[in-house]
Amino acid sequence: MTGEPLLRLEGVERTHRAADGGFALSVPRLDVAAGERVVVLGPSGSGKSTLLDLLAFLAAPDRAESFLFSPDGHSHDIAALWRRGDRAALTRLRAAHMGYVLQTGGLLPYLTVRENLLLARRLLGLEVPGPADRLAEAVGVADLLGRRPAQLSIGQRQRVAVIRALAHMPRMILADEPTAALDAGLGERVIDTLVAVSGAVGAALVLVTHDEELACRAQGRIVRCQARRGADAPGSVVAA
Ligand code: ADP
Ligand code: MG
Repeated sequence: MTGEPLLRLEGVERTHRAADGGFALSVPRLDVAAGERVVVLGPSGSGKSTLLDLLAFLAAPDRAESFLFSPDGHSHDIAALWRRGDRAALTRLRAAHMGYVLQTGGLLPYLTVRENLLLARRLLGLEVPGPADRLAEAVGVADLLGRRPAQLSIGQRQRVAVIRALAHMPRMILADEPTAALDAGLGERVIDTLVAVSGAVGAALVLVTHDEELACRAQGRIVRCQARRGADAPGSVVAA
């Protein structure tokens, strides 16, 4: 191990330009260690999704003093890849090392649960089935593998979405308000699943929420998106 964090951002900014003034997100410094649990808290509109898109290499920074990702013993210079416009390399890194849990689950409706779980591994050319069956067992959906997403309850679907993001054993899991569509009890179960399963595979977890109670439940390091004071345009600063 190099002793470097899994992810390191310094002086990273992203601005959404709009006629009414736009929005600027500033990340003075953010490290995520391997296997660490981080909870991003902030009210609606404070830039949480913008931050997650930066962390997932889905949105280009406008400025980045340093942006490094070290999932495999090598330090990949994300800022340089964006400057060169090398989207293929960014996509490869994301596909190989990250799992993204979408708010709505994002399961493909025409595939069974099992096929949904195996898709990421197939696309990466990994051995199938890998840990999919074990993960399904862990979250109590092992007997539902032959069903399609429409034949699952919302809670079951969300649990499948969580383990699907893990089926290729990524080093980092990103979850953007994964419980927004669920009632409180189901939301807690999904958070518990995310925490347990990411811990079991040793992946870092970055969980985004506006809900202080769920943030407590996840027991991660809190990072806040706070309104920027005294700036000429609206925006947030990420306080780690
Ligand atoms: P959150 O996830 O915390 O609700 P977002 O990151 O989605 O916040 O949005 C932060 C701010 O950026 C909001 O004011 C939003 O309107 C603005 N914003 C987000 N995406 C865009 C975009 N593509 N173009 C312009 N403004 C955007
Ligand atoms: Mg959001």
